[in-house]
Amino acid sequence: MTDSTHAANRTALVMGGGVAGIAAALRLAEHDVAVTLIETRKVLGGRATSFNDPQTHTPLDNCQHVVLGCCTNLLDLYERLDVADRIDWAQRLHFVDKQGHADVLAANDLPAPLHLSTSMLGFTTLSFQEKLAIVRAMGTIWRMGKAGRQRCAQMTFAQWLEQQRQPPRAMERYWSVIAISACNLAPDRLGADHALQVFQEGFLAHRRAYEMGTSSVPLAQLYDRAAAIIEQAGGMVRLGVSVRAIEFDGRKITGVRTGEDELLTADRYISALPFDRLAAVAPAELVAADARLAALNQIEVSPILGIHLWFERAVTDRPHLIFVDSPLQWVFNKGVAGAEHSDAPVGQYLHAVVSAADDWVDLPGEQIVALALEELSAYCPAVKEVKLVRGWAIKEKRATFAAVPGIAAVRPETQGAVNNLLLAGDWCATGWPATMEGAARSGYAAAGAVVGRDLLVADLPASPLYRLLSKD
Ligand SMILES: Cc1cc2nc3c(=O)[nH]c(=O)nc-3n(C[C@H](O)[C@H](O)[C@H](O)COP(=O)(O)OP(=O)(O)OC[C@H]3O[C@@H](n4cnc5c(N)ncnc54)[C@H](O)[C@@H]3O)c2cc1C
Repeated sequence: MTDSTHAANRTALVMGGGVAGIAAALRLAEHDVAVTLIETRKVLGGRATSFNDPQTHTPLDNCQHVVLGCCTNLLDLYERLDVADRIDWAQRLHFVDKQGHADVLAANDLPAPLHLSTSMLGFTTLSFQEKLAIVRAMGTIWRMGKAGRQRCAQMTFAQWLEQQRQPPRAMERYWSVIAISACNLAPDRLGADHALQVFQEGFLAHRRAYEMGTSSVPLAQLYDRAAAIIEQAGGMVRLGVSVRAIEFDGRKITGVRTGEDELLTADRYISALPFDRLAAVAPAELVAADARLAALNQIEVSPILGIHLWFERAVTDRPHLIFVDSPLQWVFNKGVAGAEHSDAPVGQYLHAVVSAADDWVDLPGEQIVALALEELSAYCPAVKEVKLVRGWAIKEKRATFAAVPGIAAVRPETQGAVNNLLLAGDWCATGWPATMEGAARSGYAAAGAVVGRDLLVADLPASPLYRLLSKD
């Protein structure tokens, strides 16, 4: 046991094996806490994982997940899992519109926050006036700092953009595209503070923050080593074990009852469950005793669609495309993965993403695929000529919590009144949108609370020029 691990915190039970639970368990194991991680499914990774495709018998991600350079805690977790080299990085982001304009967002040699200015000012998908308006608002975002964005927590991002007199096309083709992809909510519902954070920390503060990473392997393989690392340190990972009920004696958690009626006990309990699952297993007395749990039923969700498309031949040679005028926001070129197991030859596998997918999510899968093809053909005309071997829309109706105005007041802190219960999960008060980075942060924070140390990894340092004008 390390000096900092108090004798009362020798054992911990982590509930839920998503990114938050993995992050918490791994850090606890490193600090010699005898940790048990239980996960209801047979695979780790939660919402950021893969499943076995019944048709090809190969692992398939539920949806493409991207990581940005500013995701310092998630990238630290990948280092600890020894998978950082499985992330492919893109320094050039490809934007296109239906008129055939194609732009690349890439860094120049200037210091942040000017590093994206040359490519941004050259965008052909926006008019000169629209770009000037965007530059003006980006300057405001730069100067307002963290405190400034927090003051905007009660308004929507659309309201903030209107205050900044942003032209409608700049809203649609720039602000919306980035905010929806990052926060999974349209600007007219999205809390302005969340969107402003994305632009401050992802685009302005550090040159590398905007770089986009995607896994070169199925997501589940990123956690291949997690169980071994935890178990080598004396911990345990138990898959296929569900929390049925948390037991509470009026003062502290006394155990976790599993689906098999086993009672698991520990010194500390970390819930890394989704908020609705926690609400389902927490007894009413616990909810009454701990204000962190009082508002779980106020959290709303927002859907995402991941649309897998296998074509007979290649329809694009770009690594990805970001659509500025479509309900389909992204398409990722996944090469020829899956080709070897398909009934028909596959020349290209694309993965399209629709975030904030409320308008599409209740449509039948075939109709979603047809709509995706129709949209895609406007940007990649070859789609009309090339046979679609297979299309599959995966609906994640509860993909993320909805980052609406005022949500910060509802998101719970790691520690609260019941002090042997720590909370983790992307929905906790990380200051981040619902992302793998938010989940990793929450897990590190919960493990830190157990061992009495701050285990959070620092943000990328803001450039001196950014700091000069930012009110932080
Ligand atoms: C379609 C989609 C696309 C996304 N795209 C991105 C992206 O590009 N970039 C990004 O950063 N983020 C993205 N996200 C968000 C990201 O996946 C989540 O923020 C993150 O994975 C949440 O991790 P978590 O550990 O907090 O929660 P979860 O992943 O939900 O983990 C909770 C775990 O608890 C388990 N569990 C539930 N009930 C029980 C029980 N009773 N007993 C035991 N275990 C239980 C679940 O099986 C799950 O494994 C996306 C999410 C979705 C759904």
